[in-house]
Amino acid sequence: MRLMADLHIHSALSPCAQEEMSPPAIVEAAREAGLDLIAVCDHNSAANAAAVQRAAGEWPHVIAGMEICSAEEVHVVALFADATRAERAAAEVLETLPRGRAAPTSFGRQLLMDASGAVLGEELRLLGTACAFDLKSTVQLIHRFNGLAIAAHVNRPSFSVFSQLGGFPSGAGFDAVELAAVRVDPPWQAEIDGLDLPVLRSSDSHYLEQIGSFASELSMRCPSFEGLRELVCRQRGG
Ligand SMILES: [Zn+2]
Ligand SMILES: [Zn+2]
Repeated sequence: MRLMADLHIHSALSPCAQEEMSPPAIVEAAREAGLDLIAVCDHNSAANAAAVQRAAGEWPHVIAGMEICSAEEVHVVALFADATRAERAAAEVLETLPRGRAAPTSFGRQLLMDASGAVLGEELRLLGTACAFDLKSTVQLIHRFNGLAIAAHVNRPSFSVFSQLGGFPSGAGFDAVELAAVRVDPPWQAEIDGLDLPVLRSSDSHYLEQIGSFASELSMRCPSFEGLRELVCRQRGG
């Protein structure tokens, strides 16, 4: 069965995302885009993931995730089997972030929402900053909670392993790499093509209209985290 998946979508919790990215609005946009599987990945937090899962019900399937910004400012997409694991991993990341309200001119509010889209409050840690975990520790943290660690938007010129480190850290333990939509291929495209890791395409949506604009077609029996894990393991030959 071929399924359409967009595994990197921010919600209104991310300071750089549109406040209209509420749980029901994300679900509606995902359905309109024909997506079977999505993942909610806010910066350094998973606090809205369960609300999106409740808003979606059975369709599309929603994976709880987050996008961790490592100490080197490398973005890592972390996907988990359930929201509880995602929230426990996020708690360790959040603990290392500075408190304080960012200047409203540069960053938006960090809204905590329920499944209906009602605002429950604001996160006061600065989610848009680097956490204290270096890249290796970030991947280890994700694996400690049995998650998948995906090198985010490796073809982008900022906040990617290549832009921050100058090359791909072969020993970092990533499970997959993610491509984002780019206008021009990066100078390290040949290195990306040479990587022996599964490749996912995701939108990294910060606005509703971006959801599903760049997505992966995956061969899975049914949309689920375990199905994704099996697929990734199969593609890695393990
Ligand atoms: Zn990112
Ligand atoms: Zn992102």
